[in-house]
Amino acid sequence: MDRREALQRIEALREEINRHAHLYYVLDTPEIADHEYDALFRELASLEEAFPEFDDPDSPTHRVGGAPLDRFEKVIHESPLLSLDNALSKEEVWSFCDRVFSGLGLGNLEYLCELKIDGLAVSLIYEDGVFIRGATRGDGLVGEDVTANLRTIRSLPLRLREKVSGRMEVRGEVLMTREQFAALNQEREEGGELLFANPRNAAAGSLRQLDSSITASRKLSIFLYYVAHPQEHGLRTQQEVLHWLQHLGFPVQSAWGVCSTRQDIDAFIEEWREKRLSLPYSTDGVVLKINQVDFWEDLGTTAKAPRWAIAFKYPPEEKTSRILDIEVSV
Ligand code: NAD
Repeated sequence: MDRREALQRIEALREEINRHAHLYYVLDTPEIADHEYDALFRELASLEEAFPEFDDPDSPTHRVGGAPLDRFEKVIHESPLLSLDNALSKEEVWSFCDRVFSGLGLGNLEYLCELKIDGLAVSLIYEDGVFIRGATRGDGLVGEDVTANLRTIRSLPLRLREKVSGRMEVRGEVLMTREQFAALNQEREEGGELLFANPRNAAAGSLRQLDSSITASRKLSIFLYYVAHPQEHGLRTQQEVLHWLQHLGFPVQSAWGVCSTRQDIDAFIEEWREKRLSLPYSTDGVVLKINQVDFWEDLGTTAKAPRWAIAFKYPPEEKTSRILDIEVSV
């Protein structure tokens, strides 16, 4: 491909990706399956790498998520809510491990493997142990204030089991169970309404309702996996973070493991490849995080994702395209 062709393709991909990102993140009505979107995204990223002269700070490869809607109050995040870099194969996971190894110049690292929950990221603020505000990720820098809607999630503690003085930010994933999703879509089909493409879009559409009684009726769930400034709470590893969140009364997804070797990581990925399908909610991969949080700052972030974590993605579940077919035919 010569430079002219590359530029044409890059521009076409940017336009196409921006259109799909808007449909997905802002309108909650995707037209294509996630793996198709990911393929466009990867093609753009590799063209931008091969032709760095055409890189552009406005390219979707430098962005996280979508712009917030106008009608919710905007929330400026205290620190950006980033995305995660993806690994579509184990080789890509091993090259992540190599990058981390050479970035830090040491070898005795531990990885904390968690399941990647297919929901939407939220940031929650607690003041003296009381839930005061929650926001969606939005474009990563500015999200939407969905506090009233988050309060309808039964499993979310409005007051922590143990008081944590001062301000504390935690982050996690809001999701809809498969059962709830099927019931919602059936109800919508009967009412002649457009169907949600997948549980993640249904969760996003439900959390971003102006009428929180609608959100309440959708019976959303949540899992937490992150606390800002863990060292300030005496936490040194992601494992301690998860234990602490649990201790405070937050729902934490229990399928996680500490891995010190590639064999351990491989075993975790394989163990959950099939097993995850019997969970009541969708998961689409395994997130590997460096367990020791002190290294997070050393490794830093790119504009889009932390350098201390990666998401290994399982191949897409076949079901997705069938659900999309139904949506298209409505
Ligand atoms: P992502 O879903 O690939 O991964 C990042 C997110 O994973 C994090 O922001 C967090 O919310 C979540 N996550 C889940 N479990 C986690 C855990 N244990 N620890 C940390 N984070 C965890 O990235 P994204 O930026 O949220 O969204 C991109 C996805 O959206 C892609 O899969 C893409 O296919 C899809 N998408 C699809 C379309 C479409 O048209 N079909 C358009 C845009 C985006």
